[in-house]
Amino acid sequence: MADGHPEAGLMPSGQVAGLIDDLPTCAELITRFGTQAQKATYVPRLVSGEAIAGAFALSEPHCGSDAAALKTSAERRLDSWVLNGSKQWITSGAYAGVMVVWARTSGGGRGISAFIVEGKHPGLHVGKPEDKMGLRGSNTVALTFEDCAIPLDNLLGQEGDGFKLAMIALDGGRIGIASQACGVTRAALEASIRYARDRRAFDRRIADFQAIQWFLANIATDLSAAELLTLRAASLKEAGAPFTREASMAKLLASEMAYRACDKAVQIHGGYGYIDEFPVERYLRDARVQTLYEGTSEIQRLVIAREVIKAHSA
Ligand SMILES: Cc1cc2nc3c(=O)[nH]c(=O)nc-3n(C[C@H](O)[C@H](O)[C@H](O)COP(=O)(O)OP(=O)(O)OC[C@H]3O[C@@H](n4cnc5c(N)ncnc54)[C@H](O)[C@@H]3O)c2cc1C
Repeated sequence: MADGHPEAGLMPSGQVAGLIDDLPTCAELITRFGTQAQKATYVPRLVSGEAIAGAFALSEPHCGSDAAALKTSAERRLDSWVLNGSKQWITSGAYAGVMVVWARTSGGGRGISAFIVEGKHPGLHVGKPEDKMGLRGSNTVALTFEDCAIPLDNLLGQEGDGFKLAMIALDGGRIGIASQACGVTRAALEASIRYARDRRAFDRRIADFQAIQWFLANIATDLSAAELLTLRAASLKEAGAPFTREASMAKLLASEMAYRACDKAVQIHGGYGYIDEFPVERYLRDARVQTLYEGTSEIQRLVIAREVIKAHSA
């Protein structure tokens, strides 16, 4: 995880390393769609910690929301798939022992397939870590594939099924981001309550001012709503029921709520909220990305709208 920054490895409460990196997503994809041999080879490495991270390599420099426009290619040769192209924004890409990489192939579906690639594979080059506004405890890099030859057996699922696999993985990942958003909001709320009880102004605790109480009440209420939506999506997933709409709703609501809440947490801290002596400025920076990755808020709204319209026309 660590990228050398002082914030590396320090997660606000409720955030765990597994949610910041894509280890669970990789392990789940391989468990669900892998061959027996792929499961036996890669899943134990991921879950035992032998591979200290997993990576999910879908986005490219020219496309994130429109993932189907990806250009990285995989050419089938006699005894290997040869990957060429660039990936952008890959979480834990520098440390991942196992990656799932999406590339364009000739046939089937949308012409996109998924592949398992081991970290440090010849032909795979890792870019320098991005200097991000927040989430600085997590490593984000570009990856370049230059005639990167991987075994034929490393195709994940059927050729042409890649886009479908990516969408399935993102549905689950969105529950993870919603959980992250709830975690950072809980941390911001707890820090704000502590501060409001300690800090005095006009001979009173600031917790006694109604303005501050309303900030706290709104954060606590929004957080409860986001947690319930997140749990609903997670329980549908666990029950094997459809959860695309609920995962997008949870991610949309929780991520937008987290940024608002962390902004109010800074407000409650006054000037001290703006310096790194208190944790809330970091929470605000960390929360900002949550409306961007695993699908922006705009993409979540597209998914939700598509699902609700479909449900009404059924
Ligand atoms: C810190 C970080 C970590 C990341 N980790 C990973 C990772 O591990 N693996 C990975 O594959 N990717 C990762 N990403 C990439 C992330 O998923 C993309 O940044 C995201 O999907 C948005 O894509 P984009 O940046 O290309 O924006 P664009 O797709 O170019 O979007 C730009 C703007 O246009 C809007 N927009 C685009 N299309 C539409 C539309 N149809 N309707 C309305 N609005 C639209 C977007 O909502 C956004 O506001 C990460 C990104 C960050 C910042």
